[in-house]
Amino acid sequence: MASQSTTLAYFEDMWQTQSHATFIASVLEGTRLALILDRTIFYPQGGGQPADHGWIQDVHQQLKFCVEDVRIRDGVVYHYGLYCKAQEVHEGTDAFSEGQEVCLYVDQDRRVLNSRLHSAGHLLDVCMQNLGLAYLEPGKGHHFLDGPFVEYKGSIPATELESTREGLETEINHLINLGGKVKANIVSYEEASAMCGSKLPSYISKEDKPRIVCLGENFGCPCGGTHVADISCIGKVKVTQIRVKKGVTKVSYCLAM
Ligand SMILES: [Zn+2]
Repeated sequence: MASQSTTLAYFEDMWQTQSHATFIASVLEGTRLALILDRTIFYPQGGGQPADHGWIQDVHQQLKFCVEDVRIRDGVVYHYGLYCKAQEVHEGTDAFSEGQEVCLYVDQDRRVLNSRLHSAGHLLDVCMQNLGLAYLEPGKGHHFLDGPFVEYKGSIPATELESTREGLETEINHLINLGGKVKANIVSYEEASAMCGSKLPSYISKEDKPRIVCLGENFGCPCGGTHVADISCIGKVKVTQIRVKKGVTKVSYCLAM
């Protein structure tokens, strides 16, 4: 078993979808095969964002491993999938060997869609503040294609749900039209706190160096996910529903295709 943690290349550059890495080991978990590399551009599922798909090939393009799921445990990234047929498979090349250089290809369409959904979720937080709803504390975000939503601790009165939904939808599309660069920086606790309007979640300790994602000039937010390069790349967003249940406000949204 590999114990050395995987370098998360997407932390530094979240728009790279082709790269190289060194193959470390394979792990068989029941019938599931996972590859471990020294570094990866594949996003492992987490933080409300689904895993990347794609493939891993040897430099001579004789052997291809299709990546169908990616997870991270104890700092090690597991690329789940299976070896699929390359054009010409020669004998003795049915699996990567330790120390071999491999090429990584992330499915770009899927990554772009996941990034648009994730950035839209963050931008909804900004809109909530702009609409005077900053008293609602951001909670869980689910940026999957199948029913994305953001949750907040606290409630909106039932009579204001529809006007808030309309207001949010107008505000988010206004901000998307304005555009603005998206940046992710790994910074000190003090810098992070300043970037996030002195509102850092309690799970971040003073010794941490969190990664802060900022959409344009708006307040940032600690996040390990991937985002669009510019707010305008999110495209049109529909706020489909706002529901309040047990003191939690759930804002559902989708990308208008
Ligand atoms: Zn995030």
